[in-house]
Amino acid sequence: MARNPYQLWRQLEKDDVKVLAVIESLQGRYEYVPVEVLERRSRIPGPRVKRSLDKLNELKLIKRKLGSVIGYSLTFYGLDVLSLNNLIARNVIVALGDRIGVGKEGSVYYALTPSGDRVVVKFHREGRRTFRRIRLLRSYAADKPRKQWLQIAKLIGEREFKALVELEREGARVPRAIAWNRNAVVQEYIPGVELYRVRDLSLEEAEAVLEDIVDTVRIAYARVGIVHGDLSEYNVLVSEDSGAYIIDWPQYAYRDEEGADLLLQRDLQYISRYFRKRFGIQVDWRKLLEKVRGSAP
Ligand code: ADP
Ligand code: MN
Repeated sequence: MARNPYQLWRQLEKDDVKVLAVIESLQGRYEYVPVEVLERRSRIPGPRVKRSLDKLNELKLIKRKLGSVIGYSLTFYGLDVLSLNNLIARNVIVALGDRIGVGKEGSVYYALTPSGDRVVVKFHREGRRTFRRIRLLRSYAADKPRKQWLQIAKLIGEREFKALVELEREGARVPRAIAWNRNAVVQEYIPGVELYRVRDLSLEEAEAVLEDIVDTVRIAYARVGIVHGDLSEYNVLVSEDSGAYIIDWPQYAYRDEEGADLLLQRDLQYISRYFRKRFGIQVDWRKLLEKVRGSAP
């Protein structure tokens, strides 16, 4: 059961956040950061450091390793809390709300901005959660040892944020990227439902949704130079006015990368089959491919 990072963050005091951040900063050098090093680096008196470590360990924000030297390493919860702490300190958001998503293991939450707008925060945990994606990302994770899941989650956060920024700049229908820190990406909240849950779409509306999807796939390919790679009825949000948005981009591949063409084909084959089966729309994925590739190299 996922625990809300905001509820964890609220239990922390200044020392705790500081100690957590120091552990993170030394994680590249130590798998488990020795207590002595932590005491030195945090510039906090020893007993207070120990108290913080006990508390952080209790909250499972860090993991303790006992041995001749006692050491600590950051957990995914700890990483989420550090990301959140940064976003709150920067005044990007003031609080997190409930987790979004229906019966999924996802880590996407509603959040509130200082001006009272609802936005969305996605905490990346791909390293552990979705190995398939890491395989798609292997060029990028190749030089990282298996243990560095947290590092990979941060890179993926950056990757998704930058993709969203570029996609939006080129006019693709994606949530606007608002901010990023570590493994957390803040984005515009799209009021609507996933395509697989949409009820009662007329044929016309379904055709419009498909057109939005193909248009965004085309912009991504032709203008940004990327392929989504996991296009499905779960990663399309249909908003209240029936406009469609493509979400969940971190596993994208560059157009020139090996295998990207195959991914693009798969995305289009998958989506046309879905529209054929569900709405009876006869679409030839090759036609879509032509549309997407157009005059692109
Ligand atoms: P993952 O599939 O890796 O868990 P997604 O980015 O697909 O991550 O998000 C999971 C779910 O969260 C989506 O299916 C959707 O219900 C919801 N969601 C994600 N981003 C948004 C957004 N910008 N606006 C509204 N809901 C969102
Ligand atoms: Mn998804």
